[in-house]
Amino acid sequence: MHETSIAVGFLNSLSQMADRERAKKVVKVRVRIGKLSGIVVDSFKFAFDSLKGEYPKLKETQLLIEEVPVRYRCNDCGTEFEVETVYFPECPSCSSINLTLISGEELEVIDAEIEV
Ligand SMILES: [Zn+2]
Repeated sequence: MHETSIAVGFLNSLSQMADRERAKKVVKVRVRIGKLSGIVVDSFKFAFDSLKGEYPKLKETQLLIEEVPVRYRCNDCGTEFEVETVYFPECPSCSSINLTLISGEELEVIDAEIEV
């Protein structure tokens, strides 16, 4: 399951961050996951919770996930819009398919609460 390796990478960098900040533990971490990132949120959360016990500072870390919708900007008329389906999106105002992806691919930390 590819969420497991993503969760391991994420836990490793979170644990390094905790060391850098001289934290005793990380209480909470909020992340943003785009719908196009290819990450299944439930699987990621499950992997995170089952692996965090191996990291002394992350044993009790609560993971909060915000899902980011897929947003495009139309290069012809400038309209920004969200789509539910990522197949063949087109601009709702002018039907152009000349689009730039603005969000939906991210996996990023919004913030973390640590105890020092
Ligand atoms: Zn347009």
